[in-house]
Amino acid sequence: MLVRVTAAVATGKGNPLTIKELDLAEPGPGEVQVRMVATGVCHTDASVREQWYPTQMPAVLGHEGAGIVEKTGPGVTSVQPGDHVVLSFASCGTCASCVSGHPAYCSQFFPLNFFGHRPDGSVTFTDGGEPVGSHFFGQSSFSTVSNIAERSVVKVPDTAPLDVLGPIGCSIQTGAGAVLNVLDPEAGSSIVIFGAGAVGMSALLAARVANASTVIAVDIIEDRLSFAAELGATHVINSLEEDPVARIREITGGGVDYAVDSTGNKAVFRTMVDSLGTRGHAALVGLASPGTESTIDIGTTILTGAKISLVIEGDSVPQTFIPRLISLYEEGRFPFEKLITSYAFEDINTAFDDTRTGAALKPVVVFQAPAESL
Ligand SMILES: [Zn+2]
Ligand SMILES: [Zn+2]
Repeated sequence: MLVRVTAAVATGKGNPLTIKELDLAEPGPGEVQVRMVATGVCHTDASVREQWYPTQMPAVLGHEGAGIVEKTGPGVTSVQPGDHVVLSFASCGTCASCVSGHPAYCSQFFPLNFFGHRPDGSVTFTDGGEPVGSHFFGQSSFSTVSNIAERSVVKVPDTAPLDVLGPIGCSIQTGAGAVLNVLDPEAGSSIVIFGAGAVGMSALLAARVANASTVIAVDIIEDRLSFAAELGATHVINSLEEDPVARIREITGGGVDYAVDSTGNKAVFRTMVDSLGTRGHAALVGLASPGTESTIDIGTTILTGAKISLVIEGDSVPQTFIPRLISLYEEGRFPFEKLITSYAFEDINTAFDDTRTGAALKPVVVFQAPAESL
């Protein structure tokens, strides 16, 4: 039986998303049908709409969904109807990275997350019988209801607020995971975060969780820097006004212990590496377009024993890391909801515009509750 859903459809390079009714098939084997409560809008959705990546169009994008399980397909064991869930990236579950607990480096990451169809090429949405791309990041959450790959589904407590949780599945775990899973700063250490957007701010909140005592935020927008200070940055640097490397060296007495680049900008990456102290550890988490190169001074840097990690999705296992972030949130130690601006689903194109201009740090579009539950 087909279900009528309302979805925001990407139709081609740079076009605004079109809101239209589609038909959704029954959940297939290993799939979970989820009614969305809300979904974040991430830069990756915009990059795909701009066709940086060869996702088939038309397609339903969206990869920061949160909602309630309606139905499960054959073979699904981890959730049941009525469960509250957050949706995350897809992974195969059988490659060497997946079985060793690093699904963000799944050998099938690109096809499973970006192609816009199931591994066998089929899709779950149709428009008047014509296929529409689905399974973006295993979920295609820009739809009132969608069929989700089971490995993208994370059960969360019924008490957790589904209207804000979605971004934990991507941007927030990207920043927080880089700090808590990869850098793992000791209490009392120093850390600098380049780029005070949603990912950078999540890294900042995680640095506070880890009890880093010097937390430096670097950006070029004053409002963001004051917000970073509100969220717990001990120092802020406007890199248009002062040399960030010199200032970081001054604050930390020679160089910083840990660093995160959430921008993916090649000049910022270089600045990050140059700001490290002896045996410092830096993580790049911001996506750059394929082909982007950045040079570093290997002659000098090698003498410091510095380490540089390139990190996707916070190197997290969503099924364990997302519940951990939610408990930190419930304890009041990880107030990520302060990063969020909510929009009605119908205003999704405004949410895209506000992500691009920086007017909103982390837009989340909220779906109207279905008539029967009003
Ligand atoms: Zn895998
Ligand atoms: Zn994302």
